[in-house]
Amino acid sequence: MNAPRPILFVDRDGTLIVEPKPSLQIDSFEKLEFLPGVITALAKIHRELGYDLVLVSNQDGLGTESFPQEDFDGPQNLMLQIFAGEGVIFREVLIDPSFPHEDSPNRKPRLGLVEKYRLLPALKRSMMVGDRESDMEFAKNLGIEAIQLVETGAELPSDGIPPRKQCRDWNEIYEYLANRDRIASCARKTEETAIEGTLCLDGTGRYEISTGLGFFDHMLEQLARHGKFDLFLTCRGDLEVDEHHTIEDVGITLGEAFREALDNKRGIERYGAAEEPVSVKLPMDESRAEVLVDLSGRPALQWEVPFHRERIGDVPTEMFHHFFRSFVDASRSTLHITASGKNEHHLIEIVFKAFSRALRKAVSREKNARGIPTTKGVL
Ligand SMILES: [Mg+2]
Repeated sequence: MNAPRPILFVDRDGTLIVEPKPSLQIDSFEKLEFLPGVITALAKIHRELGYDLVLVSNQDGLGTESFPQEDFDGPQNLMLQIFAGEGVIFREVLIDPSFPHEDSPNRKPRLGLVEKYRLLPALKRSMMVGDRESDMEFAKNLGIEAIQLVETGAELPSDGIPPRKQCRDWNEIYEYLANRDRIASCARKTEETAIEGTLCLDGTGRYEISTGLGFFDHMLEQLARHGKFDLFLTCRGDLEVDEHHTIEDVGITLGEAFREALDNKRGIERYGAAEEPVSVKLPMDESRAEVLVDLSGRPALQWEVPFHRERIGDVPTEMFHHFFRSFVDASRSTLHITASGKNEHHLIEIVFKAFSRALRKAVSREKNARGIPTTKGVL
């Protein structure tokens, strides 16, 4: 699976390179000075974390007598060339040349230059890095998170509005981006169901789940608790018809949320249950379950779970297979589930527990291994 890449919008002066005082213009080669660590950090953010890079900069009066274009071009082109030599390639370089008093719609914090990115599927996972309030406002206007680079040695300003993460250097920015909680919204609205909620893969097992089906809620609570995911989910489904749409749509929504939260899967264990063995086996009294997970990008379900009763609580037993089928299709993962037991409440509960543990391992972030875990380059 090749998820759309989020964008790291970056300011230039005071963010990538030092803003010289008092002129604030970088109009000669002598004034070109990179911020410490910026090249290495951006290379890793681009290569390992999968962000595309877009430079957005206001250059007051560029192309006028006060700031001739050729004075700007030399240092700018050298800067881009040095970045490119280290693997930092900007997808786009956007410069607004107006003066503040001209009130240009393209001048940060306005969005004229980035209008086309507003429809980007990965926009909500995108970020802005800048040093000034106008950069923070730009992020707010675009509806994305902001990181403010605050000078080393300077006092951190008190929490401003809009909210932002404040970092003192580029290494801190990289660490913040690499270790951010992986969160996705659970949202789906059809004629048959309305689902809302959030999923956090880096949670502690907190949950609040309400689908109108008590036994199904109980199973989803296992997923949160044993997977150590935070799961908040409400489903209002057409239970007056039957349980089918509610269970199916929750399976689809959860699968989509996992897929979204994993982004393009950098830094995760490819195989659930780690390298050896590749399965999670759990007992529960007389029942047992084995679950194998591969977040392969290819949906497949092997299901060997024999039920003899028609229902457990308010859930028809045939719907468990359908739930996992919906989940693998939406998450594009491979699941092999085998279980046996006499007590059917135990039987399905241990399936959900083993599934949760396997999934937890499958999405855990390996320390210091942030490449995509396949030789094919994408999953
Ligand atoms: Mg700046």
